[in-house]
Amino acid sequence: MALAAATALAGTALASTGSGGSATAGTAPPPRRPPAWCKPGGTLSARTMPQRVRIADCDLRGRMVRGANGLAAVVPSDGTSLVAHEMRTDGAAELRIRVNARAGEITIGTLGGRVPQGRPRGVRAPVAACGDGVHRLEPSRWPRGTTVQWRYYAGTAGLPMGPFAKGIANMVGARTDCGAGRFTPPPDVREHGAGRAAHAPDITAAAACGARDGVNTFGWHAMPGAARQVLAATCTWFRGPTTVESDMALQAQGKRWWTGGACTAGSYSAEAVATHEAGHVLGLAHVEGTEHQNLTMAPSIASCDDDPATLGKGDYDGLISLYGGR
Ligand SMILES: [Zn+2]
Repeated sequence: MALAAATALAGTALASTGSGGSATAGTAPPPRRPPAWCKPGGTLSARTMPQRVRIADCDLRGRMVRGANGLAAVVPSDGTSLVAHEMRTDGAAELRIRVNARAGEITIGTLGGRVPQGRPRGVRAPVAACGDGVHRLEPSRWPRGTTVQWRYYAGTAGLPMGPFAKGIANMVGARTDCGAGRFTPPPDVREHGAGRAAHAPDITAAAACGARDGVNTFGWHAMPGAARQVLAATCTWFRGPTTVESDMALQAQGKRWWTGGACTAGSYSAEAVATHEAGHVLGLAHVEGTEHQNLTMAPSIASCDDDPATLGKGDYDGLISLYGGR
């Protein structure tokens, strides 16, 4: 009894401190007039705003922002930050949105853009994937030893689940054709397909990152509003250095996919694209430069190319620096 009373008293003391604090906050100066680019409603263009936005000037949280490379995302309003990736037939694009509510700042960074069709190949001779140890890391990863639970979204196009299951398994299993089939030890991260998803990935019909729902969802998603070059999009949300959700969508509309048998000209290997996107799910970023084009995390894929379904040395080294070996 005495103990319970003491606890209750302590609670009262805490509560009164809290209300004192909020009274102080009430004396903060009124918000300034928002800058001209901070228009209400619709999508905001990162081109028109500073790279670092003070939340007091324009609270972007919950707003759709489009990067200079065309990639767009809803700025998270739950304290998370995000990285968006798009794989296109003409290259790849990335958008990073960091929300730092404590510092009152949101930073927006875009990387990559469109690589012109028919660019000269081999400006620098490509290095063989088994000997190319180059890798780059995203700002976040899952905690070491995590089993990434994901759900499959089938969509309505009648395309198979196999490429997604294989793609994520290729990454966590460090599948390779350099030697014995797998790099060893595998990274200390696992994956588990937890069945069908009730909802589509949190990626809009225009291939933008939407608001997250807490479920890692991978699947076929009709994105009629996306640029016609878009093959896939992956959105990863993180808090501090830790990934909390990742969704992956392959374009189920208007693209020809190679999902088995012989490749029909102009089709893209779904397993290869899913493997590359699974690299983003786990925290691998792109490696730029033609000399690295044989790695899974190179930011481009040719039609009928299934090489990215097997990892190169740099892809593996990146996973080990993120997760260590198990
Ligand atoms: Zn990518």
